[in-house]
Amino acid sequence: MNSPLLPVDEVVEYLLQNVECTAGSTVRNLDDALGRYLSRDIHSPVNVPPAPNSSMDGYAFDSRDKSIVIGGVYEISDRIPAGRVGRMLEPGTLVRIFTGAPMPEGADTVVIQEDTTRVGNRIQINNLPEPGENVRPRGQDIRQDSVILSRGRCLRSEDLGLAASVGLSELDIFKPLKIAIMSTGDELVEPPGKLAPGQIYNANRYALAGMLHGLGMEVIDLGLVADTQEATRDVILKGAGLSDCILCSGGVSVGEEDHVRAAVESLGTLDIWRLAIKPGKPLAFGQVEGKPFFGLPGNPVSTYVTFMMIARPFLIALQGGCDPIPVCYYGRADFNYQTGNRREYLRVRIVTNTSGEVYLHKFHNQGSGIMSSVSWADALAEVETGQQVRAGDLLKYYLI
Ligand code: AMP
Ligand code: MG
Repeated sequence: MNSPLLPVDEVVEYLLQNVECTAGSTVRNLDDALGRYLSRDIHSPVNVPPAPNSSMDGYAFDSRDKSIVIGGVYEISDRIPAGRVGRMLEPGTLVRIFTGAPMPEGADTVVIQEDTTRVGNRIQINNLPEPGENVRPRGQDIRQDSVILSRGRCLRSEDLGLAASVGLSELDIFKPLKIAIMSTGDELVEPPGKLAPGQIYNANRYALAGMLHGLGMEVIDLGLVADTQEATRDVILKGAGLSDCILCSGGVSVGEEDHVRAAVESLGTLDIWRLAIKPGKPLAFGQVEGKPFFGLPGNPVSTYVTFMMIARPFLIALQGGCDPIPVCYYGRADFNYQTGNRREYLRVRIVTNTSGEVYLHKFHNQGSGIMSSVSWADALAEVETGQQVRAGDLLKYYLI
């Protein structure tokens, strides 16, 4: 019970070293692929643009043709709007061309219409562009066969547009993981039920399900679990049978009403317990029937913080994601703070002053049961074990 608390970074490193993606692969339409993880590299089947085209409205010509000079007046030998292919350029002439239209064979440069004057049916050039100017070469954006998106990428809307731009309508993605969640605690009631004295509503179920849905995962809710060894064992076993990973909230501490640790030890292995993290010290991680198991501490802020900083990176990696670690930013504390023997994650808002400096403003109550602090916050600010923070000090923070 008095074993040293495990440092957060070591635990995350251990989890990521030992995780293997267990998700199968499937094919999804682009419209159905947002937020999913790619299960293989995507190569472009085409060049984008497929052929050199004009980037401006103007007149195409051959920059190697010495008869084309500033002040010269020239015949228009063809007209090419976007979507049409023109004839081969006739020497000594210009071709009327519009943005996005393919360059005619023999032409390599476009003079923009603003640099020309109409003289009857002909066009005078007032300014000569550099050779190749105002032309988008073949493959300028994407080269045929190049990798445009890599395995493990979490697909953003921009990526769907990119895939469409090379003519793809489907992508290979990892099948969403099934995550079993369960909420231990005799005191818990599902909203909107009536609370008897001593009871509270189950907040964790909703926060966890929301975060899992946000990761594109399927949630199997195994509901409320009584504070007994038998009920705890039964629900964990059931979760192992139904899911790819089990997330259990509450019951992981050291009181007589905490049965999770003993249940996991009797059913499988407990690999990690008690971290140097505040809130969230009693977090447990192990395996049951070959399925990873997280016991998240029951206080709602502890559940939230341990999910975000520890379970989430593991789950993203289990899902096949290649970037599981949350992005860290820096801002200055606008408060003084002293931590003890655990790293702390403070609920903060991000405030940018008129000089563009980012300040972190802390919620007034940092208690582990204060769910309103999480809902209020923009970010979690990280303060190291034994750190004396003074106003103006730089802190790492993670967006939530
Ligand atoms: P535990 O980790 O089971 O010792 O719970 C710690 C604190 O969190 C207790 O005050 C519980 O009532 C509270 N708690 C546990 N589970 C939940 C939950 N699902 N929703 C809201 N509060 C909870
Ligand atoms: Mg409990």
